[in-house]
Amino acid sequence: MQKEALFYEKLENKKVQCHLCPWECLLTEGKVGMCKGKKNLNGLLYATNYARAVSIALDPMEKKPLYHFHPGSEILSTGPNSCNLRCDHCQNWNISQIESPTELITPEDLVSLAVKYNSIGIAYTYTEPLMWYEYVQDTAKLARDKHLVNVLVSNGYINPEPLLELLPLIDAMNIDVKGMTQDFYKKVCKGKLEVVLKTVELSVQKKCHVELTYLIIPGLNDSETELREFSNWVAGLSVSIPVHFSRYFPAYKADFPSTPIETLKKAFQIAREKLRYVYVGNAYIPGTSDTHCPKCSKVLISRSGYSVDMTGIKDNKCKNCGAAVDIVLDKKA
Ligand code: SF4
Repeated sequence: MQKEALFYEKLENKKVQCHLCPWECLLTEGKVGMCKGKKNLNGLLYATNYARAVSIALDPMEKKPLYHFHPGSEILSTGPNSCNLRCDHCQNWNISQIESPTELITPEDLVSLAVKYNSIGIAYTYTEPLMWYEYVQDTAKLARDKHLVNVLVSNGYINPEPLLELLPLIDAMNIDVKGMTQDFYKKVCKGKLEVVLKTVELSVQKKCHVELTYLIIPGLNDSETELREFSNWVAGLSVSIPVHFSRYFPAYKADFPSTPIETLKKAFQIAREKLRYVYVGNAYIPGTSDTHCPKCSKVLISRSGYSVDMTGIKDNKCKNCGAAVDIVLDKKA
């Protein structure tokens, strides 16, 4: 199953140019794009990864991670065998960077599965769902019709025009900000920092619920200067954007040791000087996975692994002081 791609241009001699992401791949007949999801077939660009999923599972929302969007719910999650970045440390390299087995699932069947399993919606995740653009758009429309939510977990590496067209269908995003220097993005990820920052800024402006993940890699993106720059930039958008610092483990081409716990604690403290909601993932550090009321500091939500206890919230307010909570909740907790 494949579908003609969106956002491309037909050129002379059956060449095509894709405008979905900043690679702007120029493809002669038979050639495949950098993301491995698009191919020039006889002068037309096709999404050859359309409806081909590397994995389908019902996951906790906290696994995305999204801590301020329907906490404690489960969401049907899937993704393509495609990515448009080439991070040396890719934590999902076996499904994003090399060819992996996929299964066919039409948008209609995926939405039916979400309904059948009582999922709150669909998360497009695991690899790079923006490289599944046509499928995500078709599925997200059907999901909306069934009152399901659409969630993207993404590297944010997309051109503004397609992003703006997709955003009205997306309820929440977790976007990776992988570092705060152009040098890091260029050398380690083979991308450009400003593209990702722009995606975050546009998504926040368009009122999509946004949370950010920053994977801390020792010696590459963990300097105090860089962490402060990141926190200041997030605070400039909104102090209420939840930030998840994540612990790196050796993977793919990166074989140096995992992030020291002290570095994660330092990042947490730096970010908390500016931001209301900061978390640490992939490591157990007491107090760094709970949500506190920004007004009275009482625990609103305590978390242990993926289990969630919302005993500090009543009628969508802090049970202790009555302050409104910055959390998207489906029912009154
Ligand atoms: S979406 Fe794929 S084919 Fe299109 S420009 Fe980006 S990497 Fe190239």
